[in-house]
Amino acid sequence: MKQFKTESKRILDLMVNSIYTNKEIFLRELISNASDAIDKLKFISLTDTKVNSDFKIQITLNKEDRTLIIEDNGIGMTDKDLEKNLGTIAESGTLAFKKENAGQTDNELIGQFGVGFYSAFMVADKLEVYTKAYGSDKAFKWKSKGAEGYTISETDKDGYGTKIVLYLKADSDDFKYSDFLLEYKISSLIKEYSDYIRYPIMMLMTRSKKKEGTPDDKPEYEQVQELETLNSMVPLWKKPKSEVNDENLKEFYKNEFHDYQDPIKSVYAKIEGAVNYDTLLFVPSRAPFDYYSKDYKKGVKLYCNGVMIMEKCEQLIPDYFGFVKGIVDSSDLSLNISREILQQDRQVKAIAIGLEKKISSELKKMMEDDRENYEKLFAEFGLSIKFGVYAGFGMNKDKLKDFLMFYSSKKEKLVTLSEYVKEMQEGQNDIYYACGESYEKIKDLPQIEKARDKGYEILFFKDGVDEFVAKILIDYEGKKFKSVTDSDFSLDSETEKKELEEKSEELKDMLTAIKDCLGEKVKEVRLTSKLVNYPVCLTAGGDVSIEMEKVFNSMPNADGKVRAEKVLEISATHKVLDSLKNAFEKDKDHLKTYATVLYEQARLLEGLTIDDVTGFVNSINEIL
Ligand code: ADP
Repeated sequence: MKQFKTESKRILDLMVNSIYTNKEIFLRELISNASDAIDKLKFISLTDTKVNSDFKIQITLNKEDRTLIIEDNGIGMTDKDLEKNLGTIAESGTLAFKKENAGQTDNELIGQFGVGFYSAFMVADKLEVYTKAYGSDKAFKWKSKGAEGYTISETDKDGYGTKIVLYLKADSDDFKYSDFLLEYKISSLIKEYSDYIRYPIMMLMTRSKKKEGTPDDKPEYEQVQELETLNSMVPLWKKPKSEVNDENLKEFYKNEFHDYQDPIKSVYAKIEGAVNYDTLLFVPSRAPFDYYSKDYKKGVKLYCNGVMIMEKCEQLIPDYFGFVKGIVDSSDLSLNISREILQQDRQVKAIAIGLEKKISSELKKMMEDDRENYEKLFAEFGLSIKFGVYAGFGMNKDKLKDFLMFYSSKKEKLVTLSEYVKEMQEGQNDIYYACGESYEKIKDLPQIEKARDKGYEILFFKDGVDEFVAKILIDYEGKKFKSVTDSDFSLDSETEKKELEEKSEELKDMLTAIKDCLGEKVKEVRLTSKLVNYPVCLTAGGDVSIEMEKVFNSMPNADGKVRAEKVLEISATHKVLDSLKNAFEKDKDHLKTYATVLYEQARLLEGLTIDDVTGFVNSINEIL
């Protein structure tokens, strides 16, 4: 008996004991796996005439031994494939799983991993998989009763393909598993979930038939069993648009992309132009657990005239829209196109351009007409768009800047840059922003007090990449981005500026003395008028902001060499100024103590750690 990987075991446990409401989706999952396996063999059949092209999926119901059997004549699996595909669940996601599983419901967890093959354990307590890979002369049997583990052994099997036997669980008060042995139940599930699967799904159906030879006016009936095709086999994207509604699209998405949640957006388009193609595009409602890791593979399924030629065609989707899933079917592509040729294929390039346009226009529409869902989308995938703005030295920034949203201090929700600029105050020339780890922390920054009191809207940058995005954008509609935590940020009028200058001049010696106390820690010490309640704040004097220092230093291989030039600003109106003056005049040692405490305090407010803990503690005690 082989063990499942540890995390797989836990997911399996979840699956087996799941109170998952849609247990029936196991059928959709297994059928779409079968269909995928046939797709793969069909592709081979284009160049290999030995493949029997009578493709089908067969379902058999067996009341006596309570089994439901799903069989396909697709590509099948070798023993190695079995090990790899059915011995591990979400291997690359284990880290994410460990990190994120706190506080989530079972359903949410299952959803994160996609339900897939293991969903069979929601209805069966034992599974057997018989499979023979195309081109191999050995068949294998995989057997498992769930979390304990599985075995793989050699077996006999006619023909290639895969047969899955589900031993249904015993009926309980909560659920009648034996319903899955009823012909009408299965046929209606197929109609509901798998109608458009392109290969016939066949099952023996019992029908009443008029007995031959009995008179028409006095007919006698008998029960006969006939093999019937349960699905219509028309791919959804080949149907006229008028026959496809949003529900169909949602169902299709869940089926095809193994998601248990509805997509947040579905698009069905038939595009005509230099290249003609049909496309179905979807935006998942949640980012896949590995979306922001290098394991994630973007791409859409590429079909040529109904034959799948590539499962994930990366070239069709730009990185920043990598969250879009979907299907493209074009009759203008060459069927025996190889992956290498695909890279430079003119038609493929034309489709990629068309898809990007389509996605952009749909997102724009969503932003305007369906803001709530756009915000949800942005919460999941906004980071992807931000990285897109930043990547390649901003080469795509103009295409993407209008999809950005940031949290507004004033509206207390996300706003676009265009909305921000429209509402700028008279005389305001720049777009104001402030950085921090969380909205709460930014709200408490001393530097933003005054700007907020004066009624200015400030964008809160909470993601590490945000400020880099602003720097790459440089401006929006001619309005530059300006951090309210920069040392040269000021909202003062000319007279106020003058007053501050005079006061600074007057206290020049004291400020120099404080700077001397702090040494290299700060570039400058100056008076400020931007604080209301706080005595001090730290601002950045050079090109590197304090937030950027944090981002750089949190990167792997950080050597701590990237440092913002810090300016200690002291409130010109705070009582603490009097104490400083006093100390400066009477007791220079005291001044050093004050300077240390104020400097470390400013660091803390900025979300930095204390530079010199012992020094800080000693200074505080001295004051006490
Ligand atoms: P997913 O289909 O999302 O990759 P599954 O857990 O459903 O995840 O399946 C895992 C893998 O097992 C599939 O990717 C496929 O390679 C293989 N597999 C499942 N069912 C079949 C089948 N009927 N024929 C061939 N391979 C299969």
